[in-house]
Amino acid sequence: MARQQTADLVIIGGGISGTALLFAAARYSTIRRLVLIEKYPALAQVNSAATHNSQTLHCGDIETNYTLVKALAVKRAAGLVANYAMRLAADEDLLHRYSKMVLGVGPEECTRLRARFREFAPHYPWLRLFEVSEIARLEPHVVFAHGRSRPEELVACGAEHEHTAANFAALANSFATHARIENPDVQIHLNTRALHVRASGHGFEVETNHNTIMTGAVVVSAGGHSLFLAQQMGYGREFSCLPVAGSFYFTPKRLNGKVYTVQNDKLPFAAIHGDPDLLMGDATRFGPTALILPELERYHLASTVDFLRVVRFDTALLAVLADMFIDADVRRYIIKNMLFELPGIRRRLFLRDARKIIPGLNLSELRFAKGFGGLRPQLVDRREKKLLMGEAKIDTGLGVIFNMTPSPGATSCLDNAEQDLRIVTRHLGATFDEARFRAELEAA
Ligand SMILES: Cc1cc2nc3c(=O)[nH]c(=O)nc-3n(C[C@H](O)[C@H](O)[C@H](O)COP(=O)(O)OP(=O)(O)OC[C@H]3O[C@@H](n4cnc5c(N)ncnc54)[C@H](O)[C@@H]3O)c2cc1C
Repeated sequence: MARQQTADLVIIGGGISGTALLFAAARYSTIRRLVLIEKYPALAQVNSAATHNSQTLHCGDIETNYTLVKALAVKRAAGLVANYAMRLAADEDLLHRYSKMVLGVGPEECTRLRARFREFAPHYPWLRLFEVSEIARLEPHVVFAHGRSRPEELVACGAEHEHTAANFAALANSFATHARIENPDVQIHLNTRALHVRASGHGFEVETNHNTIMTGAVVVSAGGHSLFLAQQMGYGREFSCLPVAGSFYFTPKRLNGKVYTVQNDKLPFAAIHGDPDLLMGDATRFGPTALILPELERYHLASTVDFLRVVRFDTALLAVLADMFIDADVRRYIIKNMLFELPGIRRRLFLRDARKIIPGLNLSELRFAKGFGGLRPQLVDRREKKLLMGEAKIDTGLGVIFNMTPSPGATSCLDNAEQDLRIVTRHLGATFDEARFRAELEAA
């Protein structure tokens, strides 16, 4: 690799966000010299790996932690991915159809789900209300335990034949392949770590462990590391990154599709669900849990150093943490999620939650999914003293953008790429063919 190189756009991070932008820039823009750099020897090894996330293409229909406004934004984003997979990469088998439902247990949750169904159904033509007999047909283990029907009132909202799951690592690799087909000049540098981004003349200098790249624009989609690179340049100092790990548990195959549970609105992270696992066909995966961990990449102790650079411990951060602990429900949730990681007791504790989905589940059937699980890089706004949910973007307005992408960041990859491409093409004086992007990816 040459010691110095020039580019129009450098993308830092080869997960689903970076590769989606690479593809979108190659197919829909006039930007020619595109370089993506990734520090690992392969793409999508961190949160976009199939082991690290729940593999759900979120549409907002069964996620009771989303308002209708958020749900419709996610539905559009999911549609972009679905259209990419079905129209431009139809022979690659990127999406998978399973039944899906959010399950209400007990009168309060059932009333809430019925009301939610009335509000959401006009926007989701495929959405159905499943009464007990329908739930039993789709997911017998949810209704029956030891040969008997469970006693609680049940109702569910969901769909039977929609695309609900994706291996986001396969999708990231597909984006990279298609980007290269669109523009043979696209360069992907693996084993290449961005060390610094600096403003230089009218553009930027990206220093890596191998070389220096002079470029007109930079998009950093490096998960929690994005904030570190931003703060090195003097941006985003008002934010801290709080990495929230999500772990999983396996059982033998007990579900045919995805079964979500109703969100407790006070809790900052989505309630656990049960999912078929695309990598382990004979298993059902339960989770994710939610635990603040001092590292930026799951199971990479070395990333603790990176965590210390972006946590920016001060009284504002402590105030946010203290605020979370004041509420008894949130306090219980945090403590419970800490215990979910403790060998010895964790299975027994998690069993109680998993039984909300499968009442007849036995302890012997449940095992901690070692090596599975990721980290959500949640931002804390230290000025506002609040935890930010969902994706965050720092657009400097000067041709460098930083993306931090907790859930549902994988579903939002093309939506996010569209926003970045709009900004970057304007900055570079290049063209983004939005009409073609929409015609191919947005249209029903
Ligand atoms: C437990 C859990 C469950 C989830 N479930 C879902 C789900 O079901 N559906 C969904 O849509 N989303 C889900 N998400 C969120 C989703 O996984 C992420 O939003 C998404 O994978 C983020 O992709 P990314 O490309 O932005 O980041 P990543 O996949 O983390 O990729 C960042 C890349 O940047 C590279 N990098 C970092 N620093 C540097 C550097 N200095 N130089 C070069 N490269 C660098 C990394 O190696 C990595 O490859 C879940 C997340 C978690 C943790």
